[in-house]
Amino acid sequence: MMMIASERCTSCNATLAEEGSTGFLCPVCGQRINRCYRCREQSIAYTCSKCGFQGP
Ligand SMILES: [Zn+2]
Ligand SMILES: [Zn+2]
Repeated sequence: MMMIASERCTSCNATLAEEGSTGFLCPVCGQRINRCYRCREQSIAYTCSKCGFQGP
């Protein structure tokens, strides 16, 4: 389990809490994308900060 204190949710910019947050790589450009628990639960769309890709 990797914890980096300064990571923020890509969707809402909340600082990622300890539990429930998830991180993955953009399928297009490989940019790191993070989502907080809330955004994951609500299936908020993310937008890659690098290439603009939008996904569920
Ligand atoms: Zn969020
Ligand atoms: Zn991207």
